[in-house]
Amino acid sequence: MDDIDLTRTCPHCGQPLKPWLGPPETMWGVLLVCYNNHCPLFQSSNDCVTDFNPESKLGFRYAEDPANGYKSFNLAAYCGETFMELTRAEG
Ligand SMILES: [Zn+2]
Repeated sequence: MDDIDLTRTCPHCGQPLKPWLGPPETMWGVLLVCYNNHCPLFQSSNDCVTDFNPESKLGFRYAEDPANGYKSFNLAAYCGETFMELTRAEG
């Protein structure tokens, strides 16, 4: 993971993306994720999820895949937690 660009920032909130190692079974490797709970993308996605399912604490965080040309996607994550659901929506 020493070839990952750690200077990349989230286009929604401008915060630096942080490396996150996906669960081994996902074969994702290291992803860059926006951990900012005040990120506009995360906050608006949370509203959408809440409308869809009030019981859900899921939101979508901005993420990039260094192994795929830093392609951006939305990573489903539990609000306020570091655990991330094993779901990723291409975006
Ligand atoms: Zn962000």
